[in-house]
Amino acid sequence: MPAGPPGKHNAQAGGLGSVPALGRPERRAESLAVAGLQPFSSVDFPGRLAAVVFLQGCPWRCGYCHNPGLQSRGPGAGPRWPELRDWLARRVGRLDGVVFSGGEPSLDPALPDVLDELRAMGYALGLHTAGLAPRRLAVLLPRLDWVGLDIKAAPTDAALHDRITGRRGSVRAVRESLALLRSGSVDFECRSTVHPAWFTDADVLRLVSELSSVPRHVLQLARLPDASGTARAPIAWPSAALLAEARVIRPDLQLRAA
Ligand code: SF4
Repeated sequence: MPAGPPGKHNAQAGGLGSVPALGRPERRAESLAVAGLQPFSSVDFPGRLAAVVFLQGCPWRCGYCHNPGLQSRGPGAGPRWPELRDWLARRVGRLDGVVFSGGEPSLDPALPDVLDELRAMGYALGLHTAGLAPRRLAVLLPRLDWVGLDIKAAPTDAALHDRITGRRGSVRAVRESLALLRSGSVDFECRSTVHPAWFTDADVLRLVSELSSVPRHVLQLARLPDASGTARAPIAWPSAALLAEARVIRPDLQLRAA
């Protein structure tokens, strides 16, 4: 079974572009665009030992994207779904979850049927999404146990959101997705990748403040490629003072390397 990308992660409202049409039900699962597989992870699906399945395609162009090779649409370079399904069926009992990442996995028309097949095997199911397709998310939510929602910038800051995603109006879909999760019963966390190339200290505090009532908020500290393009250098930011200020707003704010 091929290994996948190293992990990330992750038309309805601005910036989405055209959404792939849903295919005939009996053909959907087989058309899943698998870009790769991480066979085992203890960090990508909280509380679960999970396989991470990366799906191909994302219409946004975030400057810090860790998986730019997964942005273009196409069938994906990973295993075909029937092969992957058989592999997962043999691991029932050794893995207890499967989480989908990308790219933007919510856009894959095959995903609802694939989730149904995995649920029948007994797996817990998770999704990493940037929330760019709320109608797709609404279809997926009844099938999921957990969602990791990327929030690129404070939900009221449309300009910064557009600058990060490279797509105008992109924040509208994210607001809808966040509202769906807030009003539903599926466990979720919000994750925000921050870097001083895009964020001022005030932008970070605004972001933390606007998400202060979601169940969990994680700041992922971006590392950008160095001049050679081969390494991602850690940066001395945010400062201890900024983090202290953020934790006055939200004492349980979490940090993670992006
Ligand atoms: S939303 Fe941004 S970070 Fe996530 S896959 Fe798409 S381009 Fe990459």
